[in-house]
Amino acid sequence: MGDTKHTKLLIIGSGPAGYTAGVYGSRAMLEPILVQGIQPGGQLTITTEVENWPSRQEVQGPDLMIEMEEHARAAGTEIISDHISDLDLSKRPFTAKGETGTTYTADAVILATGAQAKWLGMPSEEKFKGFGVSACATCDGFFYRGQEIVVIGGGNSAVEEALFLTNFASKVTLIHRRDELRAEKILINRLMKNEKIEPLWFHELDEVYGGESPLGVEGVKVKNVKTGEITDIPCKGVFIAIGHAPSNELVKDTLETHMGGYVVTKPDSTETSIPGVFAAGDITDYKYRQAITSAGMGCMAALEAERFLAEQKA
Ligand code: FAD
Ligand code: NAP
Repeated sequence: MGDTKHTKLLIIGSGPAGYTAGVYGSRAMLEPILVQGIQPGGQLTITTEVENWPSRQEVQGPDLMIEMEEHARAAGTEIISDHISDLDLSKRPFTAKGETGTTYTADAVILATGAQAKWLGMPSEEKFKGFGVSACATCDGFFYRGQEIVVIGGGNSAVEEALFLTNFASKVTLIHRRDELRAEKILINRLMKNEKIEPLWFHELDEVYGGESPLGVEGVKVKNVKTGEITDIPCKGVFIAIGHAPSNELVKDTLETHMGGYVVTKPDSTETSIPGVFAAGDITDYKYRQAITSAGMGCMAALEAERFLAEQKA
């Protein structure tokens, strides 16, 4: 049997929300334990430049997250490399089981498990995942030097991925189902000025096709959403960037959720439907989903956890 560790405050997740909760929880003398999960540092570790973190005109996402980790650790947070596989919120202390075999018991919990990339869910996408189909340009872009690539989506992620991929690809086709991007204006301007990127409006991915041996993408068939006409685009890489879904696996049956699985919090608060359980960052935020808003919610969650624990003691 593994160890059991008790803490006043358990923080699950190591993105901007989790680390900020660690800083504030430590300064409130709650001696928090933070469990990092399988993506230490969270989503910003799979991007390059972050240009909207106040005080840093430009910082690499992975570097920013290392700095946040160091800050939380220096403040007094115990940071543990583990992934929570089960969370029992039915009674206090709450119990979380880690994949390393450690059981964590906690008087309060901050859920900061963030979000993950969405997939289209088509069989050909699944078949070529890891063999030409990807959801992470910074992870896989390097493999497509001198090749043609398509990116699916029209938000910040799709535009950033398309721009980043021009560092490697000979041509990037951005396929979007409308003729209007929901990305920030500054990114759209960069996209439109980039000669390697060709937008293809009013189209959706219909099928990825490729070779069997070795398994690898050779092209996509795309459908015009207005006419239904199918067009063939030869390419070696397909990057899916159609948004993110909240990582709610631990709580989807125990906490109230809405808007496609985001954890419901009380107005102007990070309190969830269970007293003593707080949610911060992309797990609850269906609206802004930014590093700075996640960090802000991490701060709120730690302050609210402190107040909750003080009330319990009183
Ligand atoms: P996340 O960063 O999603 O981190 C979630 C954490 O939870 C991870 O550490 C994961 O390991 C952990 N976790 C999940 N499940 C478990 C579990 N069961 N047990 C333990 N741990 C678990 N925002 C900006 O403001 N500026 C940008 O430039 C920017 N660029 C982006 C580029 C890309 C490619 C992407 C995908 C997003 C970008 N964003 C950007 C959005 C930003 O990354 C997110 O809003 C932010 O990271 C959310 O922080 P979070 O703390 O809620 O969670
Ligand atoms: P998003 O903003 O939700 O955009 C998803 C895009 O994919 C939309 O254009 C959407 O089309 C399209 N889409 C969704 N489902 C589709 C489907 N089934 N088929 C075809 N297209 C589909 O997601 P995101 O770009 O991943 O961004 C998520 C959050 O992270 C946002 O809040 C964003 O601001 C943030 N983020 C910020 C930065 C930054 O600050 N630089 C960078 C990356 C991400 P429609 O437009 O038609 O709905």
